[in-house]
Amino acid sequence: MSECIFCKIAHGEIPSDIIYEDDKVVAFNDIEPQSPVHFLVIPKEHIPSIKNIDEDNASLIGHITMVINSIAKEKGLDKDGYRIVNNCGEHGGQTVEHLHFHVLGGRYLSWPPG
Ligand code: 5GP
Ligand code: ZN
Repeated sequence: MSECIFCKIAHGEIPSDIIYEDDKVVAFNDIEPQSPVHFLVIPKEHIPSIKNIDEDNASLIGHITMVINSIAKEKGLDKDGYRIVNNCGEHGGQTVEHLHFHVLGGRYLSWPPG
C-alpha cells in the first residue's frame, strides 16, 4: 500500500473534506488554510510533481484547470479572482510529493511570494 498521504486521501483511506471528485481527480479543503477559501486539487493517480507531466498525461492539467474554474465559480471566486499555485521541489516549497494545485481566494493576495 502507498505511504503517500494524498494517495490515501484520493482513495478514501484517510478522511478529508472532499468538495469534488470524478474518475481522474479529487478536490479537498487544505488542512491549514491560508485564505478564506483554500482547497487542493490532485490527480487520483500518483504523480510526484509537475516535473512528471509529459505528452502522455498532459491532458490531465487541462482537466484540473477546468475543475478548478468550476469549483471557483461555485464558491463565488470568479468575480474577484483567485490564485492557482503549484509548488515544485524543495526550492518551490513542495512538502507533499503528490502533484497538487492550491487554489486560494476570498481575500487580496499579495505578490511576490517570499
Ligand atoms: P505543498 O507545501 O506541498 O505545496 O502543499 C501541501 C499542502 O497540503 C499544505 O498546504 C498542507 O496544509 C496540506 N496538507 C498536508 N497534509 C494534509 C492532510 O492530511 N489533509 C489536508 N486536507 N491537507 C493537507
Ligand atoms: Zn500519491
